[in-house]
Amino acid sequence: DGVKEMRIDYVYKVVVIGDSAVGKSQLLARFSKNEFSFDSKSTIGVEFQTRTTTIKSKVIKAQIWDTAGQERYRAVTSAYYRGALGAVVVYDITKRQTFDHVVRWVDELRAHADSSIVIMLIGNKADLEDKRAVPTEDAVEFAQDQGLFFSEASALSGDNVESAFFRVLEEIYSNMA
Ligand code: GDP
Ligand code: MG
Repeated sequence: DGVKEMRIDYVYKVVVIGDSAVGKSQLLARFSKNEFSFDSKSTIGVEFQTRTTTIKSKVIKAQIWDTAGQERYRAVTSAYYRGALGAVVVYDITKRQTFDHVVRWVDELRAHADSSIVIMLIGNKADLEDKRAVPTEDAVEFAQDQGLFFSEASALSGDNVESAFFRVLEEIYSNMA
């Protein structure tokens, strides 16, 4: 009849963090629903989005958590990080301060999350090249120093969004195998 129960082999919790307005919620919307919106409404009541995918014939349900405004009050609690196997730390390539704050978010992760957590740094809004305030090389250097994966991406165009999230899921998978 064409209707099949989907077998889920693993559920991977991934948290998205970074300063307010860098595009965390839109990256998540792009990855989970292939949607984008210019006037993001706050996602009150929505804690995470999911997307189910296949890695090496295993069915992986990615459960991707959004901070939903808590970042403004530095109120991200340890419960948010609990059980996370992956983290996406986002800055805005047009706002230098959001990149300067990445080190704080990484410190937060090291304090609260499991030491084996897979971390991906994303420089979002790569479509706004004419407003760039963070050279790619600065982020490459920081990511190498800290042992993070790195990609620039655009939630608006969709460029590199899938590949960045899939990189996290594949890395989690290979660490478990
Ligand atoms: P959050 O606070 O980190 O969750 O940021 P949002 O996802 O709410 O995005 C903040 C603003 O940036 C919204 O107006 C989005 O439409 C815009 N935005 C998000 N991603 C992009 C992007 O890749 N390119 C551009 N040009 N704007 C973006
Ligand atoms: Mg948001």
